[in-house]
This record gives sequence, structure tokens and C-alpha cells, in this order.
Amino acid sequence: MGYTNSKLVTYTNITKTQKNSPRNHAIDTITIHCVVGQWTAKQICDYFANTDRGVSCNYGVGKDGSIGLCVDEKDRSWCSSSGTNDHRAITIEVASDTTHPYAVTTAAYNALIELITDICKRNGIKKLIWSTDKNARVKHLSGVNMTCHRDFANKACPGDYLYNREGDIAQKVNAKLEAANNSASSAVLTEEDKGKADHSTVPYLIKVTADKLNVRSGPSTKHKINMVIKNHGVYTIVEERNGWGRLKSGAGWICLTYARKV
Ligand SMILES: [Zn+2]
Repeated sequence: MGYTNSKLVTYTNITKTQKNSPRNHAIDTITIHCVVGQWTAKQICDYFANTDRGVSCNYGVGKDGSIGLCVDEKDRSWCSSSGTNDHRAITIEVASDTTHPYAVTTAAYNALIELITDICKRNGIKKLIWSTDKNARVKHLSGVNMTCHRDFANKACPGDYLYNREGDIAQKVNAKLEAANNSASSAVLTEEDKGKADHSTVPYLIKVTADKLNVRSGPSTKHKINMVIKNHGVYTIVEERNGWGRLKSGAGWICLTYARKV
């Protein structure tokens, strides 16, 4: 697998010891955590990179919206008290208040959504699916692909602030994924778009590529031949129709298959 890391990262401090390298499962799950401290991405990553307490995360999102990388996506972080989960999940620690419900800043929340969107895009996760049913989360029933630390340990993590917003996060990420897909498909021109584009680009110059090219009275082979071009010359096209171009000179129409734009 060609794993990559997010280009949204603003700070990197990779832990040398608090991880398994490489992960043993493809990335198909997102697990959001709360830091229990209003830290920056640098503070989060520096903490995990320097600790020997057996804890880490793939990404840390700071109170200011900064995004830190602590464990490469190709590796398994030690974050959710479940090796099975962390081998398949990207784990994200988000700066939060120190008391329940462990609220996060708007900057952190928005950065979290951008980061998850990017993770999904790069790892082929088409859609985030959240469930308030722990069993559905842990067993990934019906495509559920968001889990919580509290699913695997007697902890409040990610705190009720983020827990109650997991559905909102999924919705916002999915809207962004959908928008990206739509703009990708609309990048393919329809025939109608092509017509418009053609219309807006005249006049332009072409060079005849055929040794002999019939100039006809209209834009199809049904029209009579006015003359024959034999000089590979350069001409101005002032109108296009069905792959035919009308010569500025008034001599008639040529089939554009036998010409290239110059
Ligand atoms: Zn946690």
C-alpha cells in the first residue's frame, strides 16, 4: 500500500517508540479523541514523541487549528486501547477543555473536518458512517467506520462534546467528499459544453494537414466542393459546426479532422 500523510500538516514530530510499524490493516476507520488540554498541534506531538507511557496518535489537532503528525499513516498508533482498532484506524487527538464535556474550539473543529476529509480522499474512504450504537461501531456493522476510545476502555474519550457531534462531523465531511466528486465529474465536458466552448473560441488559426482538402459550400460532405486546398496553408476559422470550420475568406467549409490549431 502506498500510504501518504496529510499535506494539511503544519507540524511534524514523529515518535520513535510509541507505535507499531507498519500497520497490519488497511485504513478504513476514523477514531477521534480529546486531548484534555487546550494545546497546539506542536504541544500534542511533542508530548507523544517524548513520552514512554505507551501512548500516541496519528494526528493532533491544536486549539488554533494547527495540525500535527506524530505517527505516519502507514504505522499503527497507540491511541484507543485497542490494537485491532488502531491497526485499521487513523487516530486523531483534538485539543479540548480539561473538564467534561471536553469542548473544542471552532478552529480545532473546522481543522478536524478538513483533516478527516483529506484522510478519506487519500485512503479511498467514500463516506463516513456514524452510529450511536456501540456494538455497530465496534463490529463495523452496516459500514459504520467511526469508533471511539470509550468503545474499548472505561473512558469518557472523546467526551460528550465531540461524541454528540460525530454525526455532524460525518455529514460535513461527506458533503465535502461529495462536492469534490461532483467537481471531478463536471470537469468532463458534456457535448453541450463542448458546443459552447467551440463557439467562444472562434476565430482561430488552423494549418491544413491533408495534402488535398475539399472546401465545401456547407459543413458536411453533402455540400458541393467549392475548391481544393493543396498547400498545407494557414487559414482563419470564424465558425464551427459539427466538426467543420468556416473559412474567413468566404471560400466555404473544411472538415477540421484535416487541420490542426496553430
Ligand atoms: Zn482517547
